[in-house]
Amino acid sequence: MKQDPSVNLYDIQDFGEYGGVNPSIADSATFTFIENNSMIDTFHGEAEGCFLYSRHWNPSTKYLSNAIAKIEGTKAAWVTASGMGAITAVFLQICNSGDHIIACRTIYGGSYAFLKNYVTKFNISVSFVDITNLEEVKNAIQKNTKLIYTETMNNPLLEISDIPSLSKISRGNNIKLVVDNTFTPMIFSPYELGADIVVYSLTKFLNGTNDTVGGAICADEDFINSLIDVNDGTAMLLGSTMDSLRANSVLKNLHTLHIRMKQHSKNAKYLSEKLVEIGIDARYAGLKTHPQHELMNKMMRKEFGYGGMIIINVNTFENASRLMEEMQNEKVGYLAVSLGYFKTLFSCPSTSTSSEVKDEDKEKMGLTDGLVRFSVGLDNDIELTFKRIAKCLKEIKLI
Ligand code: PLP
Repeated sequence: MKQDPSVNLYDIQDFGEYGGVNPSIADSATFTFIENNSMIDTFHGEAEGCFLYSRHWNPSTKYLSNAIAKIEGTKAAWVTASGMGAITAVFLQICNSGDHIIACRTIYGGSYAFLKNYVTKFNISVSFVDITNLEEVKNAIQKNTKLIYTETMNNPLLEISDIPSLSKISRGNNIKLVVDNTFTPMIFSPYELGADIVVYSLTKFLNGTNDTVGGAICADEDFINSLIDVNDGTAMLLGSTMDSLRANSVLKNLHTLHIRMKQHSKNAKYLSEKLVEIGIDARYAGLKTHPQHELMNKMMRKEFGYGGMIIINVNTFENASRLMEEMQNEKVGYLAVSLGYFKTLFSCPSTSTSSEVKDEDKEKMGLTDGLVRFSVGLDNDIELTFKRIAKCLKEIKLI
């Protein structure tokens, strides 16, 4: 690992008006010019430091984009109104009618639904593959394949993608490798590992306070400029830009990300080990039993740990429902979708965040109704949290 994302972030010095330690919020949709010619130059992207209209750039979205690019090690980034706003813009920017995409079969349900049901409108075809099987990925390549899409740690099964090997395959075939790193910011740096474009749902760990949806696209300057080209840029024309007030609030949260990731990881490791000790079937990337544990060791930045996500298998939907209801009553956390919040969240992915996946595909992936996904919070007393979970498991006779 070459760069340290937290140091890169720390070293940014963006002062606000009157010397404020936080950059001022640019609460304007449009910007004035003294001379009309400067407006025309700005319109053509030829005036450095000038802003035209906030769907394109706004000083506040620019501050946030720059900070995320620093974390990711890319030359540029662009922030969006949601994670899906980022992901869909990238697909539609790269692919034309008649093109082909290779996608990991186990990805966030919304991304899966977009690829399975939506891009067909544009005559774009998609092959879903087991991304941990590199031969399957290679065999799926066609003459018209434009991109390979995966999640570094995938949702919800927590499989790890081998980014350096996928990058070799994609570069060898002139294909773009697009990686969603939502589950593992700072832990993995997919761009450094060989991805061409990295996307995020900022809604999750990056923001961390569950008060907004948001997204980001990190890439080289050419790609970001093409996305926001006023004539044919997908992001510019479909308009999924983030609002300046939100950009400012997310930026402040970003500066505690390194501490939060360490605590999420520490707590999740403790819980997963304790759950296994009492006989629960738990999957966590930090456990030696995780199928890609060694791969993760090779790709990760050790100091941030193995992330905050755990899944457990309690066999039936009924068990999962009762367990989650009990855990909410016992103040373990909330029965809610999403992740990366300071409190623990739990949900049943098969019937919620991955409900878009067809039953036969779920079976192939091992996405069963008895799975409970935990996004482990920042609890100071994680031993107490474990005792509460154990009490709930006993209550419904699972231990
Ligand atoms: N990517 C991953 C891995 C996700 O888990 C999610 C949402 O759960 C998204 C993308 C979509 O993000 P958003 O809800 O911000 O649009």
